[in-house]
Amino acid sequence: MKIAVIGAGLSGLTCIKCCLDEGLDPTCFERSDDIGGVWRFSNDIEDGRASIYQSVVSNTSKEMMCFSDFPFPENYPNFVHNSKMLEYQRKYAEEFNLLKYIQFKTIVISAKKCKDFESSGRWNVTTEKDGKQETTIFDGVMVCSGHHIDPYYPLESYPGIKQFRGQYFHSHQYKNSDGFKGKRVVIVGMGNSAADIAVELSRTASQVFLSTRRGAWVISRVFDQGYPWDICFDTRFENFKRNTLPMGITAFLIEAKMNQWFCHANYGLQPVDRTQFKEPLINDELPSRITCGFVVVKPAVIDFTETAAKFDDGSIEENIDVVIFATGYSFSFPFLDESIIKMENNKANLYKYIVPPTLEKPTLGIIGLIQPLGPIMPTAELQGRWLTRVFKGLCPYPPLNMVMDDIAKKNKTFIKRFGTKRENRLQVDFIEYLDELAADIGVLPNIYSLFLSDPLLALALYFGPCTPMHYRLVGPGKWRPAREIIMTTWDRIVKATKTRVLKKRESSFSFVTKVLGALCVLAVFVAMVMCKY
Ligand code: NAP
Repeated sequence: MKIAVIGAGLSGLTCIKCCLDEGLDPTCFERSDDIGGVWRFSNDIEDGRASIYQSVVSNTSKEMMCFSDFPFPENYPNFVHNSKMLEYQRKYAEEFNLLKYIQFKTIVISAKKCKDFESSGRWNVTTEKDGKQETTIFDGVMVCSGHHIDPYYPLESYPGIKQFRGQYFHSHQYKNSDGFKGKRVVIVGMGNSAADIAVELSRTASQVFLSTRRGAWVISRVFDQGYPWDICFDTRFENFKRNTLPMGITAFLIEAKMNQWFCHANYGLQPVDRTQFKEPLINDELPSRITCGFVVVKPAVIDFTETAAKFDDGSIEENIDVVIFATGYSFSFPFLDESIIKMENNKANLYKYIVPPTLEKPTLGIIGLIQPLGPIMPTAELQGRWLTRVFKGLCPYPPLNMVMDDIAKKNKTFIKRFGTKRENRLQVDFIEYLDELAADIGVLPNIYSLFLSDPLLALALYFGPCTPMHYRLVGPGKWRPAREIIMTTWDRIVKATKTRVLKKRESSFSFVTKVLGALCVLAVFVAMVMCKY
C-alpha cells in the first residue's frame, strides 16, 4: 500500500516509521528543506511554517516524550532545549533510515478522493516542486502538517489598536529579547508562549504587563521532590483519582496541589473557572518575576489608545511601547476540501481524533491535531500505529452510526472536563486516550494479570509514570528492552541532574548486613557439605 505522509516534523517522522513497521510504502512531502517541524528554530519567519523563539525548552520531560522504541540519550537533561529536540529527531531519522522517504521542498497542493474512492479508498495527491505540479495516487494519507502555523490574531476585538503608535505583533513572530531594552510591554493572553515571553522580556524590558481573561494554574518543571512534573502527574493511579472522583472534589484537590507552590489568587493568576481544566502553564520562573515586580499580571485588555492599554478593571497603563498578542493558533488544512474536514470553533469532529467520520473508507487521518495533558510525541506515534493498522484492516473500524455515537459521547465528556472555550478545543486526557488507541490495536498491557505474573512491572505501570514504553510490552511492535527501560526510568531521571555525587561513608548497617549475609551463605554451604557426608 502506498501512503502519503504530509509533513516531516516529529509526527511525520514517526508516521514514516509506523508505515515501515507495518510493511507499507510511505512517501513524505515536506515543504521546507529539512526535518524538525516546529522544533527547528530559525531566525526567519517563513510563510506556512511554525515558528518558535530561541529559548524554547520542552515542557514535558524526556522520559515521557520520547518515541516508544527510541529513548532520549542518557546524557540529555530531563527537559530539553529546542536544539536538542532537533538533534534527537535527527538521531531517530538516522537510526530508522527515514530520510530517504522524504521529498523536501515539496508542497502538497491538494489531496482529493479518487473517482472510485467508495470502493478503492484511494487519493489523488497533487504536489508542487520547483514550480512543477505532479499528481500521484495513494492508498492512504497521513496528515502531519502541524497546528502551530496560522497565528490567531483577534485584532477585531481591539478597534483602538489601529491608532496605537507603538509596535504590535503576534507571539509567532517573537524570537528573542533583542531590541526590548527599556521598553514597556503588554502581552495579551495567558498560554505557555505568553508566560515564557513575559519571563524572558522581564530581564530586558523596563516593565512587562501580562494580561489574562481567565488566569491559569502554573506548574513548575521541578515538581514533587524535584522530579519532573509530568512524571508525577501522568500516572494511571493519579489519572484514576482525577477521573473517578466527583468533579468538585477533583477541582478541590487540583487547586490545593497547585496552590502548594504559591497561592495563585495572591499572584492574580487564579483561573476563573476551577472546574474546567485549561492547559496549565509550565513555568518555573513566572511567580518569581511577579513577586519581584518585573511582571505585573493584569485582567483582560478592553482596548488600546495611541499610547496606552485599557483593562477591564478600569485601570490604564500609559506609555506602552510594544503589544504582543500571544493568543494562540488557528488550524486549517488548505489542501483538503471542507467536505472532508471542517474546523468549527477551532475543532474538527474526528473519529478517535484522527479520521474524518464521513469518509466512506478510513484511508485518511490527521495526526497530532490534539493537545494532551501530556507529551504530544508519543501520542502522535500511537496515532500513527493505530492508523496504519486501520489502513491495513487489522484494527476494527466501526460502521458510521457507531463512529458518530463515539464522537458525540467524547464531545459530551470533553465539554464537562474542558468546557467550550476556543483555546481548549484540542485537549484530551493523555492516559485515557493512549490506552484507548492501544487497546484497539492490541498493545495495551493487562496490568491486572501482570500483578500475578510480574508484580513489580505491574506496580510500575500503575503507580509509575505512563511512559511511551508501556505500549511496547505486548502485541504488534513489541520491543524487548521496553520492560528494562520502564523499570529504570527513575534512575535515568536522577542521573540527568545528579551530576555531582558525594562519596558516601559506608554505613555500619550495610557492613553488618554484608557480614550477616556472608555468614548465612557460609552456614548454608556448611550444612550442604555436612548433609552430603
Ligand atoms: P494558547 O495555549 O492557545 O494560549 C493562547 C492564550 O491567549 C489563551 O490561553 C488565552 O488566555 C488567550 N486568548 C485566546 N483568545 C484570545 C482573545 N480573543 N483575546 C484575548 N486573549 C485571547 O497559545 P500558546 O501559548 O501560543 O501555545 C500554543 C501551544 O504551544 C500550547 O499547546 C502550548 O503548551 C505550546 N507551547 C509550548 C511551549 C514549550 O514547550 N515550552 C512553549 C510555548 C507554547 P486567556 O484566556 O487567559 O486570556
